[in-house]
Amino acid sequence: MAAIGFIGLGNMGAPMARNLLKAGHGLRVFDLAANAVAELTGAGAQAAASAGDAAKGAEIVITMLPAGQHSRAVYLGEAGLIAQAQKGDLLIDCSTIDVATSRDIHAAAAKGGISCLDAPVSGGVAGAAGATLTFMVGGSAEAFARAEPILRTMGKAAIHAGGPGNGQAAKICNNMILGISMIAVSEAFVLAEKLGLSDATLFEVASRASGQCWSLTSYCPVPGPVPESPANNGYRPGFTAAMMLKDLKLAEDAAKTSGAGTPLGNAATDLYERFVATGKAGTDFSGIIEWLRTAA
Ligand code: NAD
Repeated sequence: MAAIGFIGLGNMGAPMARNLLKAGHGLRVFDLAANAVAELTGAGAQAAASAGDAAKGAEIVITMLPAGQHSRAVYLGEAGLIAQAQKGDLLIDCSTIDVATSRDIHAAAAKGGISCLDAPVSGGVAGAAGATLTFMVGGSAEAFARAEPILRTMGKAAIHAGGPGNGQAAKICNNMILGISMIAVSEAFVLAEKLGLSDATLFEVASRASGQCWSLTSYCPVPGPVPESPANNGYRPGFTAAMMLKDLKLAEDAAKTSGAGTPLGNAATDLYERFVATGKAGTDFSGIIEWLRTAA
């Protein structure tokens, strides 16, 4: 069993940390929110006084933080994880952050002789609780081989996507597909309704034809065809529109800096921005269909 430091015990981090405890690993945990730490100590973890303190005596440190600026603050600088880590330690950032920050963290770790991986996830809060997350991992093959058994304790799959930052690259490309396809499926239902075609009929046809995709057949934005989709539950998340907007903005920024042409990705960012501005940040991202019905 490994000695693990875990930093960032929010909606995703707390259940991931619990799964590591359940598997018998020793955990030192830290979060800026004291109540988040208290919940984990109640489940058997040790409380740490800071991020650096959580890394003390740990062979592996996992972080699950909101965004790039938080990872930067926790990893870099004099009191940061990289400065505090010992040679041979492995640092794994599971947060979804921008590729550039992730690569800065990898570069600083390499300079200090510390192993590092970026390992963002898909699967959401349910996947974190049920240990069915998919990890997309960037970094060396050696570090990936060492991390894989630990990641598999928290998820059903870990895919090595290549070198530093490639886990983040895979995550934002996937979520750009998801954002665009959810809008495409929603627009098709809105048009079908106007043309007098029922939701059930469009689903029956498109789910067996070339319009088939995950946003339609696993996460249908209208109630009925996929009983477990958030549409059947007043668009309670699931995956919030704010999270989708965050990931689309990361994709847009990466497209700008790399020179990739992503006109549909940019249009999806704009539409989610306008949807979120109507007070829907906390609504499931598939709820954009309700806004599209009125947008014309
Ligand atoms: P969250 O806001 O619930 O949790 C983040 C935690 O980090 C909070 O408890 C916060 O107090 C803590 N934190 C922030 N700065 C800190 C610091 N400097 N030191 C220690 N703790 C600090 O967010 P979440 O929903 O758990 O998401 C975490 C990451 O996972 C994000 O990058 C998100 O994009 C990604 N993600 C989330 C989902 C989802 O459905 N929630 C799905 C996939 C990926």
